[in-house]
Amino acid sequence: MRSLSIFGATGSIGESTYDLIQRQGGRGAYRIVALTAGGNVRRLVEQARALRPEIAVIAEAAKLPALREALAGTGIEAAGGPAAVADAALRPADWIMSAIVGAAGLVPGFRALSHGTTLALANKESLVTAGPLLMAEARRHGATILPVDSEHSAAFQALGGEDMAAVETVTLTASGGAFRDWPLDRLAQATVAEASTHPNWAMGQRITIDSASMFNKALEVIEAHEYFGISPDRIEVLVHPESLVHAIVSFRDGGMIGHLGAPDMRHAIGYALNWPERAALPVARLRLAEVGRLTFAAPDPARYPALGLARAVMATGGLAGAGFNAAKETALDAFIAGAIRFTDMAGVVDRVLDRLSGQGGLEKAPASLDMVLDMDRSARRLAAEAMGVPADAERI
Ligand code: NDP
Repeated sequence: MRSLSIFGATGSIGESTYDLIQRQGGRGAYRIVALTAGGNVRRLVEQARALRPEIAVIAEAAKLPALREALAGTGIEAAGGPAAVADAALRPADWIMSAIVGAAGLVPGFRALSHGTTLALANKESLVTAGPLLMAEARRHGATILPVDSEHSAAFQALGGEDMAAVETVTLTASGGAFRDWPLDRLAQATVAEASTHPNWAMGQRITIDSASMFNKALEVIEAHEYFGISPDRIEVLVHPESLVHAIVSFRDGGMIGHLGAPDMRHAIGYALNWPERAALPVARLRLAEVGRLTFAAPDPARYPALGLARAVMATGGLAGAGFNAAKETALDAFIAGAIRFTDMAGVVDRVLDRLSGQGGLEKAPASLDMVLDMDRSARRLAAEAMGVPADAERI
């Protein structure tokens, strides 16, 4: 029986993973090792009662007593705190979903690789902050990382195992987010509620706002660079409002292979869950005659400054991805809290990268997770300082 764990089980990706596992036989078909959540005890307990994992872990340590009480008598272990989440990743499982949001997903995902697992990686921040370390750890332990981000899963499928040397470009598509058609001068007034509505995908709030600003695509470009080992100049972004073509791989013979499908994350999750097989999945089938028309456009750099920042990050390399992501997460927190405007986020990240670059060390190759975590903390502090908000440097 295959064993598996879900990190971030109560989130958007976690719930879709849970749904697919239940449809594929649930605890009768899999041995569930660990389920983790941030603070949602109620949902974690419901999932744990249904799937019967060895252990359920809540990252907010103060909620451990409530988790313990709710699981009393079930035989399921309960644990709490970020260290307990990371420890749960050390429990061997054949397949592990990494779906914690933000840099908090890095350490658990990294630890999971130590037992040669198949890591289904939704947490793009892991590759953005510590790509070379993560890929080297996977190689060292014979672990497999499968991309779950829809564009990267699409590119992986379009590549079909072909030699990367035959690839000219990888194109990631982007819906353009909530404000694609807004006049530029209105963006500064965008509210959190408006930014939290995605035209095509149902996702967690943070990634939805990141889609509106294209910080999400910025992270994905860096993710593609790290995962596929492709140089930044060969990664392209196309605005594709229909979100039906997820990625296109262009080969040196002039052929292009694109991956199409309904915008439903259960395709990419189900592909990773069943890989290398293809199982029947409960996603809507595309009727292209009904769709009729697919449109594509180059992204406007004035509307989406995050994309330019991602290019600068890749040019710098080293720890720049960790600084970039942490500054972005802090700016996003401040936008959600109403402390800054939607259009201020890119400027904050830019200023933090400038200051980090001035201090030196941004270009240093990450030799350990500690270096990445240190950079993450510095960038969070600088971002908070730049915005005049309290620092929350202990997020990971
Ligand atoms: P959600 O916000 O919906 O869920 C995040 C999950 O992580 C929840 O289980 C949450 O617990 C948990 N969590 C939050 N903070 C912490 C923390 N500090 N420590 C431990 N656990 C924590 O996020 P999404 O599912 O949308 O995204 C998850 C990841 O997948 C992100 O990296 C995102 O970029 C990526 N992704 C998401 C896609 C999507 O469609 N949603 C598409 C492609 C990639 P709780 O519920 O208790 O708060």
